[in-house]
Amino acid sequence: MPQDFLPFTRPSIDATTMDAVAEVLRSGWLASGSKVLEFEAALSAYLGGRSVRAVTSGTAALEIALAVADIGPGDEVITTPMSWCATSNVILRRGARPVFVDVDLDSRNLDLDAVEAAITPRTRAILPVHFSGLPIDQDRLYRLGRQHGLRIIEDAAHAIGSAWKGRRIGSHGDLVCFSFHPNKNMTTGEGGAIVASTPQEVEFIETYRFNGVMHRAPGEFDVSFAGMKANLSDIAAQIGLGQLVRLETFNARRRELAAHYYARWASNCPLRLPARGDEDHSWHMFAPLLPVDRLGLSRADFIARMKQHGIGVGIHYPAIHLLSAYRGLGWREGQFPNAERVGRETITLPLFPAMALQDVDRVIDTVHAVLAEIAHAA
Ligand SMILES: *Cc1c(COP(=O)(O)O)cnc(C)c1O
Repeated sequence: MPQDFLPFTRPSIDATTMDAVAEVLRSGWLASGSKVLEFEAALSAYLGGRSVRAVTSGTAALEIALAVADIGPGDEVITTPMSWCATSNVILRRGARPVFVDVDLDSRNLDLDAVEAAITPRTRAILPVHFSGLPIDQDRLYRLGRQHGLRIIEDAAHAIGSAWKGRRIGSHGDLVCFSFHPNKNMTTGEGGAIVASTPQEVEFIETYRFNGVMHRAPGEFDVSFAGMKANLSDIAAQIGLGQLVRLETFNARRRELAAHYYARWASNCPLRLPARGDEDHSWHMFAPLLPVDRLGLSRADFIARMKQHGIGVGIHYPAIHLLSAYRGLGWREGQFPNAERVGRETITLPLFPAMALQDVDRVIDTVHAVLAEIAHAA
């Protein structure tokens, strides 16, 4: 390969963080302790003082949030078929029923007209994703929730640092869930967090994430329900502390890189670019559509050729309702045309804070070269 391989994403961990993690390892306390408390306090400060509790993944955060909202068998949760599978897997794991509605083709966010039309007497919650960090219309979402008495559980796995009308996602609203997987805008290795509103909810989360254990007198405890084991380690929390102080810088860089993609592709763009949003977009990823039918090519061939040219391309995501577990429950092709088209055509191009603007140029030049190569081979 002529140049270094450029992956579609890569975390940025600095030496200060590595040293601080080594310090935690030397301290003798690795499980949930003072570093988790410090990380939760830092997240809370970042989110305008709301209560935040750290857990082991974004998936665990969503599952616990559904438990907080007491979602279970017989309940319907309206959600999106265009997301990582965790978004709806957690609904099934609670024994509830995901009700999918289609997304907008360019923002990939839930179509709120379709959400409203899907509300039934059994609907208990709406679980939207702020896709790639572009916030869904929070005003309309919460108005719908209030009108119909529904809980809102925001899957904000892509959206830490995004804002709606100047207010950060997670600084307002109902239950908001973040992921700190290494691909996300900030990481703890693996990890996640839940933003909650009341002391009762916070206590429930603390109990639920630690086997349902309630501490009584020192050394004594009781268990009143079977919780998960999803508390974060101090090792992970220390990574998170080192990331959170850099998050604004990371996201500013992501916005610059995204702006460069749009500027270079203001004309002569062979792809369908995603909805752009405004300066409050965290740009978790840059995922245009590859018009496979119009260009008469296969996405797998395109991705393989990009890789040969040293550029990593991801797929985020296949439509959830067409995965086997969901087909097995009765979902079929044709139900959500936009999500299905995104699932077929989406390609995630490199976008991460350590990239240079010239890397964006390299990606764009390579996309054009590979499309020419494919056209020539046909
Ligand atoms: C990453 C992600 C999750 C799950 O987070 P994990 O930390 O990997 O469990 C959920 N929803 C969306 C949209 C995600 O991108």
